[in-house]
Order: sequence, then structure tokens, then C-alpha cells
Amino acid sequence: AALYGAERRNSAGVDLSDVTQLSALSRELDALAGRAWSAAPLIGGQLTAGPASAELRNPASGEALGSVVDTQPAQLAQAVERAWRAFALWDATPAAERAACLERAAERFESERAVLLSLLQREAGKTLADAIAELREAVDFCRYYAARARAGFAAPIELPGPTGESNRLEWRGRGVFACISPWNFPLAIFSGQIAAALVTGNTVIAKPAEQTPLIAAVAVRLLHAAGVPVDALQLLPGDGNVGAALVDDVRIAGVAFTGSTATAWAINRRLAAKNGPIVPLIAETGGLNALVVDSSALPEQVVEDVITSAFRSAGQRCSALRLLLVQDDVAERLLTMLGGAMAELRIGDPLALSTDVGPLIDAEALAGLAAHVAELEAGAGRLIYRCTLADGLRGHFLAPQAWEIPAVTALDREFFGPILHVVRWRTGELERTLDALNAGGYGLTFGIHSRIDSTIRAVLERVRAGNCYVNRSIIGAVVGVQPFGGEGLSGTGPKAGGPHYLQRFAVERTVSVNT
Ligand code: GLU
Repeated sequence: AALYGAERRNSAGVDLSDVTQLSALSRELDALAGRAWSAAPLIGGQLTAGPASAELRNPASGEALGSVVDTQPAQLAQAVERAWRAFALWDATPAAERAACLERAAERFESERAVLLSLLQREAGKTLADAIAELREAVDFCRYYAARARAGFAAPIELPGPTGESNRLEWRGRGVFACISPWNFPLAIFSGQIAAALVTGNTVIAKPAEQTPLIAAVAVRLLHAAGVPVDALQLLPGDGNVGAALVDDVRIAGVAFTGSTATAWAINRRLAAKNGPIVPLIAETGGLNALVVDSSALPEQVVEDVITSAFRSAGQRCSALRLLLVQDDVAERLLTMLGGAMAELRIGDPLALSTDVGPLIDAEALAGLAAHVAELEAGAGRLIYRCTLADGLRGHFLAPQAWEIPAVTALDREFFGPILHVVRWRTGELERTLDALNAGGYGLTFGIHSRIDSTIRAVLERVRAGNCYVNRSIIGAVVGVQPFGGEGLSGTGPKAGGPHYLQRFAVERTVSVNT
């Protein structure tokens, strides 16, 4: 049990139902309102000056937040060179020392909570509850990977010596890791990738999502303050071109990527086209996540879990529910109840404590989803329920909505927002429905609501998905408790927050000594 995280507690976060805790936090957050932020390439600990490439705005209100200076090609080359030179020393640093840096970083994340929560809310449009959950996850990643490194990477594994030699197996870093992270978890996934790569002895070039460089810049400063050498972790803000140039650099020894399936394909192609080291890609991508409901399920529980899974974080989680698969004899009642529960959702500014659903990240996301809604309206779907948006909302809001579609196969890609698709299945047709789901090729999260054990067993046996949930929501994996990551089109299968994640970032070296 010690190996699997029992030695470590997850962060307690903030209890929003405790008035004292909430008012202390609100005061801290209020003090930061109106603050201007900035991000720029951070190379060898030096911020590079330059004309702002973009202004960043709060996606819920349009409020100006600050600006970012994007990375130029010469700066990228310089950063990779420094990271490459810094590798040998960092890799030779005892794993326990590297782990201690992450543990100190976790403390700093907690003591700087107001800045991080404020940016999660203003830059990424998160509700306070989502922001708190994300901060906890970031802290947990740091502590969990530190614990895993102490347990598994601090000493070599001694092997038998039947040949008269003394044999051992050591874990070493791979070299310079490119960590390319998404805007939807701009703190937790950003720092989780970095923590895993650093603690296993790699140096890191972090390329944050172009929508969320400000919080990335703060997180990197906190990691440096915690003792991570400045050349071992450098930040290169920019768009996809910066990520592509990074992946193309022949000194990059590994890539950790979370984002769309299409971008993972593009990274794979670029890596394959290089004449250089054979570089692994650790990818966590999208999903067409389904929840099966049979006629034995508890409708109230189903509705609550569907609302959470489909609409929390405005559906902008790769784990979010996209396809609700309901047995037809309970569908009418369940969908009526679902509409009733959706009517209660409060959509608006995430800075308001009562808000359940905030904005989409940007205008491009909204336009993409609006085009999908237009297709549904033009006959591809039948509207079950659409929430009403209050007048006067100024951000990139899309009303949470549920549409019935004719079959699983009618949905062939991920739509990253608060749109739920519903398919009815007839008794005897569940297996065929699940086979169609598998054939789609995604395999991230999956859920079943049923009170029949044999059904649950059979369904879990049939479905190919990385995270399967029974009689609960399908989002919110907890570090060290529900290791997270998908299969097939959803990723290369590493489990963030799981006991075998760090191994993906390292190489093994056998040493045989003739004694
Ligand atoms: N780990 C998150 C969850 O379980 C989702 C991560 C993501 O959206 O990339 O909800």
C-alpha cells in the first residue's frame, strides 16, 4: 500500500460551505481584482522583453487581464540549448532532492492560492469551485509524483548475480522534455506534466496553451522559487507554431501533450519525420464519452450525475459526458427530469458564487460549437432542452443543451462544450450500441448507471475506455485515487496521477559490474 500512495494525503482545498474560510478567500481574491498580468519567454530565468503579441481578456466579461510576448524562433533554440546543457547535472541530482523541489512547489501553490485561483477564474473562466478543485489537483500532482519518485526512483533496483557480476537497474531522465499543455486545466495539467518530467531527471521546456499563458508564467515562477533550477524549466509562450518548432528540434527527447486528437496526430507525424533519436509521445487527447443508463438505474441519481458530467466546467473537460445512452422504456421520464434539472442551472459570470456554468474559452470555440448546433437545428437532432441565457451576458457563452440523435454513429467527433447528445437503445440492443461506441475509436471516460450487477460486469468487460465509472459522475478523477488517461484516439494510455506515470518519462539503464 505504501507504494501506491497511502503515505500521502490529497490537498484539503477550501470548504466553500464554511463561511469563515469563504470570506477569508473572498477578501484575498477581491484584493487582486483589476491587477494586470504579463507573460513572456522565460529563458535561463530571464524574462525576454518584446512587443506584446496579444492582449488577454476574461472570457466571461471581456475585462483586460494583461498581455503576452510570444516566443521567437531564435529564443526557442536558445532555451532548448540551455535545457540540453542543464540536463546532465539535473539528471545526476538525487531523486529525493528533485522530489523535495516539488513538495516545496506544492506548498507555494497553496500559499499563493489567491493569485492562482484569481487567474483560473479570470483567464480560464472557471467557477470558484472548479478553480479550487484545479488548484488541489495541481498540488496533489506535485506531492504524488514526489512520493512516487522517492519510492521508485531514488535507488537502483539490485538484480541477481548468477554470472558472478553485480547487476543493477537504474531509472534515468531522457533529456529535454517538451511539455505542451491545454487551456482547460492551465494549472493542474500544466504543472502535472512538468512535475512528472522534472522529478524523473528531465529538463523541461513548457509550452502553455496560447489562451492561458498568464497562469503558466506564475506557476513557473513558483516552481523556480521552490528550487527548480532556472535552466531545468523554461517557459515558451506562443501558438501552435511554437509547439511545432519545439517538437521539430532534434534535442527534444520526449513530448508530453494534452489537447486535441488532431494535434496529437500532427505531433506524431513531426516526430516521425525527424532524423534523430526515436522520441516517445505521451498524449492525452479527446473523448466521445458515454454514459449508459438502463431501466434499473435510480433516475434522480442519474440526472444529478449527468448534469455534473455534461455541464460542469461548461463541458470543457476531456472527461465530460457527450453521449447519454438511455434504455428506451425509461427515456421519456428521464429526459423530462433532465430538462427540469437543466432549467435550474445558473449560467453566467463565474466570479458570482452562485454560477454553475461559466463561459467557453474564446470566440473560436463558440463559433465551432455554434456551427454544430446549427446542424442539429437543421435536422441532425431533436432538441430535448436548451437553457436560457440571461440578457446582457458579454462573454463567450453557449447555453447548455441536450439533443437526441438517431444513433451513436451520428456523432463522430468531440464537441468541447455544454452540448449533450442522447441516444435511446432498445432492450437487447445494448451490446450493439457499445460495439458502435468502441468502433468510434475514442476511449477516455465511460459510465454506467444500473442496479444489475451482471449488466455492469458485462458492460465493463465490453467497453474500451481508460476511466470507467459505475453509478456516479464521469468527471473529476482524483490524483492517486483514479489515475486518469485514455486509449485509442483518446491517447497513448499513460495514467496521470497513477503509479506508473513517471516510468513513461524515464529510461532504464542496466549496469553490470564484474566484481
Ligand atoms: N482529469 C479531469 C477529469 O477527470 C479531466 C482532464 C481534462 O479535461 O483534460 O475531469
